[in-house]
Amino acid sequence: MKKLPDTITDKALRGIAVKVYEGTPVSAADARLLLAANSILDLGRISSHVRYRLHGDAAYYGVNMNLNFTNICELRCPLCAFSRCAGEAGAYLLTLGDIERRVKKAAADGVDEVHIVGGLNPELRLSYFEEMLRRVKKIKPGMFITAFTAVEIEYFAKNEGISVEETLRRLITAGLGAMPGGGAEI
Ligand code: SF4
Repeated sequence: MKKLPDTITDKALRGIAVKVYEGTPVSAADARLLLAANSILDLGRISSHVRYRLHGDAAYYGVNMNLNFTNICELRCPLCAFSRCAGEAGAYLLTLGDIERRVKKAAADGVDEVHIVGGLNPELRLSYFEEMLRRVKKIKPGMFITAFTAVEIEYFAKNEGISVEETLRRLITAGLGAMPGGGAEI
C-alpha cells in the first residue's frame, strides 16, 4: 500500500501530507494553504489518514431531532413553503407543554441534540424561548441545543427592545449551545 504522501497529486499539499504522515503538527501557513486548496480528493486523503489513525474503522454521529415551534411567520419569504400567516389553514404554534412532551419522547429514544428553528411569530416573547431552552435542559442536561437562526435572533432582539448581544446572553444562560445557519454553524 502506498504511503500517504505518495498518493497526493497536488505538489503544494504533498509537503503537508509528509508532516501529517510523520505526525508533525501543521503550521498556520499550512492551514491557510489547506483552506485555499481546490484538490478535494487530496484533502480527503489527508483527512482520512488522520481519521483512521485516531479512530480506525469506527464512525461517530449525533442523534438529532428537529423542532419547529411555529410556522407563523411575519416575513413570508417567497421561497418558503413552511410558513403561514396567523389564522391561515395549517398555521400552528406549539405550547411549551407540547415541546416538553416531544423532547421527552426524543430523549427516551436516545436523541442527544435538538435543533430548534421556527417562523418569526410576533406573539412570542423572549421568555417563551428562554423557558423552552430551560425545559429541554431539565429533561436531559446533556442535550446539546442548536437553535435560532441569525434572522430569528435579530427579530427576538427587536421585539424585546434589547440588543442582539443581550438576547444571545439570555439565551445562552438558558441553555443555547450553538446557532444553526445554512452550513455555517457558529
Ligand atoms: S423567515 Fe424562515 S420561516 Fe419565515 S418565511 Fe422566511 S424562510 Fe420561512
